[in-house]
Amino acid sequence: MKAILVSIDGLRADAVTSETTPNLVRLGEIGTRVVARTVMPCCTLPCHTSMFRGVDATRHGITTNTWQPMVRPINSIMDTLHNGDFRVGGFFNWGELRDLWAPGSVATSVFIRDSHRPEGDVRVYEAFMAAANDLDFAFVYFGHTDEAGHAAGWMSETYLGAAANADKLVGKIMADFPSAFLIVMSDHGGHDRTHGTELKEDMEIPFITNRPVPLPSPMMIYHTPAVIARELGIRPEREWEALA
Ligand SMILES: [Zn+2]
Repeated sequence: MKAILVSIDGLRADAVTSETTPNLVRLGEIGTRVVARTVMPCCTLPCHTSMFRGVDATRHGITTNTWQPMVRPINSIMDTLHNGDFRVGGFFNWGELRDLWAPGSVATSVFIRDSHRPEGDVRVYEAFMAAANDLDFAFVYFGHTDEAGHAAGWMSETYLGAAANADKLVGKIMADFPSAFLIVMSDHGGHDRTHGTELKEDMEIPFITNRPVPLPSPMMIYHTPAVIARELGIRPEREWEALA
């Protein structure tokens, strides 16, 4: 395993604390931790499309949680790595993420229909671990924190419990793959029981790596593919926003 991208859906930047997410705090102390900004509309598929395809939503045109083929397609980090002979896998419990890459780009893709409880994220982790030895790069997505935010409110006890569960899984990944480049981030934050506004509670996301890496300021969610490409020594797509 050369690199792992973990997305904790709906994790607010200020939910990363030593009480709730001690592993994320420790990760940031080992490597780099910044508060990054996501894109509008700050909903799951538009934001993940920016995270994977390296451009703002105004360029990729995905503005809802329903995928539409892009008028001017851009390779996602998964496609680019696949074209560079990396073996790539995706593990997730929100089905709409299946369009973050071309079907032929992944050696393994596992969708677990279970994000309504913490165990759903555990099952994603287990699916990832079952396939990890065969992969160079993995995308691991934990969807329950967002679900808990919608159900009980952002920063509620239930929400923070979901974040703590995801943090435990990150702790395992840190122990399982000490030499892989690890990024842990989210797609958007949230407030009350929703997200999608320009409030900083919605727009600010954690971006944490296990290696000290230089990052643009402000770090935007669409810089993610370029950071991964630079760390893995592959050429970024021309369309991706550069790190400058
Ligand atoms: Zn989301």
